[in-house]
Amino acid sequence: MDYAKLLLPTTREDPAEAEVVSHKLMLRAGMIRKLAAGIYSYLPAGLRVLRKVERIIREEMDRAGAQEVLLPAVQPAELWKESGRWEVYGKELLRLKDRHERDCCIGPTHEEVITDLVRREIRSYRQLPMNLYQIQTKFRDEIRPRFGLMRGREFIMKDAYSFDADSAGADESYRKMVDAYVRIFQRCGLEFVPVEADSGAIGGSFSHEFMVLADSGEDAVAACRACGYGANVEKAEVRAPEAGSAPEAAPLEEVATPEQRTIGEVSAYLGVPPQAVAKTLLFETDRGTVAVCVRGDHEANPAKVKNLLGANTAELAGEAAVRAVTGAPVGFAGPVGLSVPVYLDHALRGAGGLVVGANRGGFHYRSALAGRDFPVAGWADLRAIEEGDPCPRCGAPVAVRRGIEVGHVFKLGTKYSESLRATFLDAQGAERPLVMGCYGIGVGRTAAAAIEQNHDADGIVWPVPLAPWEVVLLPLQVKDEATRQVTGDLAAALQAQGIEVLVDDRDERPGVKFKDADLLGIPLRLTLGAKGLAQGMAEARERKTRAEHRVPLGEAAAWASAWVKERRT
Ligand code: ATP
Ligand code: MG
Repeated sequence: MDYAKLLLPTTREDPAEAEVVSHKLMLRAGMIRKLAAGIYSYLPAGLRVLRKVERIIREEMDRAGAQEVLLPAVQPAELWKESGRWEVYGKELLRLKDRHERDCCIGPTHEEVITDLVRREIRSYRQLPMNLYQIQTKFRDEIRPRFGLMRGREFIMKDAYSFDADSAGADESYRKMVDAYVRIFQRCGLEFVPVEADSGAIGGSFSHEFMVLADSGEDAVAACRACGYGANVEKAEVRAPEAGSAPEAAPLEEVATPEQRTIGEVSAYLGVPPQAVAKTLLFETDRGTVAVCVRGDHEANPAKVKNLLGANTAELAGEAAVRAVTGAPVGFAGPVGLSVPVYLDHALRGAGGLVVGANRGGFHYRSALAGRDFPVAGWADLRAIEEGDPCPRCGAPVAVRRGIEVGHVFKLGTKYSESLRATFLDAQGAERPLVMGCYGIGVGRTAAAAIEQNHDADGIVWPVPLAPWEVVLLPLQVKDEATRQVTGDLAAALQAQGIEVLVDDRDERPGVKFKDADLLGIPLRLTLGAKGLAQGMAEARERKTRAEHRVPLGEAAAWASAWVKERRT
């Protein structure tokens, strides 16, 4: 491809709107342009990278025996009502009406649609197992779209769905997908870890996330160096501390704490450590509103609250709801005298009397004792694991690292096949629900994660398998007929070997061309300058190592082609 006519608008300045390096570099390298919040156009260089990710995914899904389909983006509300998700999905679901006033949505995921397809087409155990996948545009009206393709509203996802006759079969389908994912992310040149993930409140289900470790990651991963255990912090179980004997608690006492709202303020004002203060948080869930108390220096985890209650949603209550339930402004909620159930995190066990909000503006209680001063609906693991907490498997202290979730595999069980009545006839002729799994990969997020892991001060350093072009040819005197001839011959020879070549035929200063080649991250650069050409040589430079080689022109195509092919996966 010739650069002069290519839509490849590179820029030198860091775009102000971009916070993470992959977003900055995708904009600067002319890969993407923003249309609206979380909605991007893919330019040629960007699309080429996404296509590479997709090709790797396709090859590995096909190898694992999955079949490719393409499902509609627009989905009728009826299906979502059948599964029960129309009511619970919330604002991420983009809902619209067609001209007949019929409710529809733009698919954020396709469990309903695929289950509907399969319930009509699969009859017998003889057709199982079956795994269907697609690579398709999703829409999720994310509350905070950010980081470019990392968290968009419109984005490309590979989603696959497996259907098995029984749970053991579903486990086998799941294992095959885990293997396929390991191969996919290895082939993309990523450093990643599969971790146990939260699977919500669905019985008999489990899930793993594939995390690319990077400081910019939005997820936190607990990793144990001692035994290799890894889990999303939302999932990792925090062991209950050994219950020691609780110190005698003095009687409940109300104290004035004017304007002292945060744990830090309250503990300083009353002269007690933050661990002696209990934080009371109200969660609104589809199972009703509950109060959750955690130690002052801990954070309550909504996913664990959700799982404890078997709820589909659990969100921190807003200011108005806090006022309505406690009768006090935010900052003074406490468990004493509340009308909603109160759950306590294990870490508060044996703490004795606690400082808690008094549900009255400007007041707290001292010496509040669970059971004595307020009823306890339950003790549970309600906080996210933290650095240094004991590993749930071996007890050694865990480390907490940041990760980008690029893929998610999920054993669904019969959640959708039961609600949508997707059944098959088993060998005995009995009708049984299909056992399902679902498996997602964010295509754009994977490309972004690759940049997070592979860049330097000059730009992107693409792993060869994802690079938009494998080789860039850099003729320095584009007006010189001999240079043009040599460049054209070399490009043709490389293309004949199946190498993807970008020819920078712009009439620009060498510095500009070198800078753009580095920014674009093309793995191998071949410079054709006057001096080298006079000696019959091309100058090769590897983007990653910056190693330079002088290669005779006659051998340049074979040399570069071998270099690239060694690094493809
Ligand atoms: P997250 O927790 O990051 O919102 P999720 O759990 O909602 O992700 P899934 O529903 O499992 O994601 O979707 C499968 C894959 O799709 C994810 O692993 C991720 O790679 C990708 N993905 C999800 N949401 C987005 C998004 N807003 N932008 C880009 N990719 C996304
Ligand atoms: Mg999400």
